[in-house]
Amino acid sequence: MEECIFCKIARGEIPVLTVYSDDLVMAFDDISPQAPVHTLIIPRQHFENFGDDIPMDVFAALCAAVPKVAEIKGVTDSGYRIIINNGPDARQSVPHLHLHLVGGAPMSHKMVDVL
Ligand code: AMP
Ligand code: ZN
Repeated sequence: MEECIFCKIARGEIPVLTVYSDDLVMAFDDISPQAPVHTLIIPRQHFENFGDDIPMDVFAALCAAVPKVAEIKGVTDSGYRIIINNGPDARQSVPHLHLHLVGGAPMSHKMVDVL
């Protein structure tokens, strides 16, 4: 996956504001934040999305990173949302599986805007 932007980020070829990193996943601030806290958590290995037969250790690492990132970003007690845009209807724009962790301010009760 030479051209995948998140693979390039995982290889250190594109600078990001790294929030957390381990062998399987990394987290970095979104370049175009939609909330005061908006951090992306990605597997280092390329998977397009949830349909991609994700190994359990990768799933576990993604989930385990969530509370760590929340703590680092200071939103453990205030709360946050985890969002995964999966496929075209969900407007997934980067075809490398990623979780959005958003928080830092109260959010709308409306979770989804269907067009
Ligand atoms: P999605 O629309 O769910 O695929 O989310 C992709 C996210 O990646 C968007 O929120 C973008 O702002 C973010 N993004 C794209 N390129 C970069 C980058 N170089 N560094 C940080 N975030 C990025
Ligand atoms: Zn990739």
